Amino acid sequence: LSDGLNVHVEYNTDLFDAKTIDGMLDHFVLLLEGIVANPACPVGDLPLLNEAEQRQLLVDWNASSQPYPEPDTLHGLFEANVARTPDAIALRCDGIVLTYAELEQRANQLAHKLVTHNVAPDTLVALCTERSAELLIGMLGILKSGAAYVPLDPAYPADRIDYMLEDSQATILVTESGLQDELPTDGLTVICADQLGAPGPVDNLAPQNTNVAAHNLAYVIYTSGSTGKPKGVQLEHRSAVNFLASMAREPGLNSADRLLAVTTLCFDISILELLLPLSVGATVVVATRDEASDGFALKKLLDDGITVMQATPATWRMLLQSEWTGSPELKVLCGGEALDRELAEQLNATVSSVWNMYGPTETTIWSSCHQFKPEDSVISVGRPIANTTMYILDEQYRPVPRGVSGELFIGGDGVARGYRDRPELDAERFVADPFSPKKNARMYKTGDLARHLPDGQLQVLGRTDFQIKLRGFRIELGEIEAALAASEAINQAVVILREDTPGDQRLVAYFTGDAVPESSELRSMLQAHLPVYMIPSAFMQLDKLPLTPNGKVNRKA
Ligand code: AMP
Repeated sequence: LSDGLNVHVEYNTDLFDAKTIDGMLDHFVLLLEGIVANPACPVGDLPLLNEAEQRQLLVDWNASSQPYPEPDTLHGLFEANVARTPDAIALRCDGIVLTYAELEQRANQLAHKLVTHNVAPDTLVALCTERSAELLIGMLGILKSGAAYVPLDPAYPADRIDYMLEDSQATILVTESGLQDELPTDGLTVICADQLGAPGPVDNLAPQNTNVAAHNLAYVIYTSGSTGKPKGVQLEHRSAVNFLASMAREPGLNSADRLLAVTTLCFDISILELLLPLSVGATVVVATRDEASDGFALKKLLDDGITVMQATPATWRMLLQSEWTGSPELKVLCGGEALDRELAEQLNATVSSVWNMYGPTETTIWSSCHQFKPEDSVISVGRPIANTTMYILDEQYRPVPRGVSGELFIGGDGVARGYRDRPELDAERFVADPFSPKKNARMYKTGDLARHLPDGQLQVLGRTDFQIKLRGFRIELGEIEAALAASEAINQAVVILREDTPGDQRLVAYFTGDAVPESSELRSMLQAHLPVYMIPSAFMQLDKLPLTPNGKVNRKA
């Protein structure tokens, strides 16, 4: 045509707005220009972004720079508040109340004891307590001694605890007297945080005695591993300190707040619950194990002046199913898996605000957050927190246009040091960050699919792999499959998450093998190695596993 090509677009206005379609047309024009400019270019290499859009995606929407907080260690943040408000209440748990000064003294007593066992920065001390005051005393005591903590859940099978102790090379276990006999303690120095003996020194250790700094490890948390063994994610103080400072600003917490802590220490979001209050002079109320799993007990705690609670969608649903009718003063933080609109709206109607929190353990607790608004057109996870960058990239690590889905990569101060002794896995998941001006910057390949909304917020769309979330627990299906395949009776196994009844998600294992094992046999075999939440609800033997035309297991079939 003499006046050029015309393009006419028809689209469903329920699904797209004009701005999105305009954006697609701009990309189309850019694509055509690219073809004309370089007709020999392979289609996959043609440009889709102009410079301005590239800058918006990589730079403008990642403008998250904030001054680095002082002090720069987790226990330093707590100590600053002890100095400011020694008599304020730091901790409540099961009838026990400790002021900042009292909690400090108990933690210091443990720290002094640990130092006599030669702990040093970047050594790991295992921590296994019930949900009690000792949980926080243990955590702070270990950090104050200069070491990093490795949380162990007393409910885990002994085999898993053994593995974590061995892999972390922890030689000291901090626990409490009631648990000591139940844990595998061979070869370990065991210190009971509730029986520290005659009162020793209770003052802060001199900095030259611990030498711990912002770049040292604060904690190592084990998460499910796709090849069969959990992997330890190593996090440094500076990442966690940056995280807490960002959270104190948004969603926001101040010294008048009372936060109800419900999450197991083995899930990193517990650090927000335990240490965010202590970093701003607020009070943390620790729910006991029984309270944390009982909607009615939680309701009772919430009604007692709690202003903030964080939990996974499953816990919020449990609360709504008990007699809890909401708390007008409560700030709700919900994260760990996708928030659905129904839950968000239900919560939002009865509390002061609802925040969708997103982030993997590998980038320090949460990497983005967003206050849900009923008028939001989609459920967004918001924008990066302080000193964090988020990129949505294609397979060649190039940014994809606004609105197009790609894999989410996270860079900045939250990126973990890496996995413990897993160099191949490090190389696969922690890759060079080509967009950062900083030398040697790395970004984490999340495995999450996401897209940018027109205003720069992010929407998470699902996974690129077989990692799932079940009631908030992160599970690599491959780990369960490997545990099953270790059985003599099983040749090949595939585990999937099914939701045959809406809202009722279950793990189901399909397997092949010559013998015909009972489900109960398989269940008890798995129970020796895996936490309860990873045990399939049903086991089904097949003659053979269905395959795709190119010979891979067809999981959908
Ligand atoms: P974890 O390391 O246990 O914190 O799990 C991190 C993974 O949980 C992420 O990579 C996501 O797949 C998922 N996730 C966490 N929070 C959210 C959220 N708010 N929305 C959607 N997915 C989430």
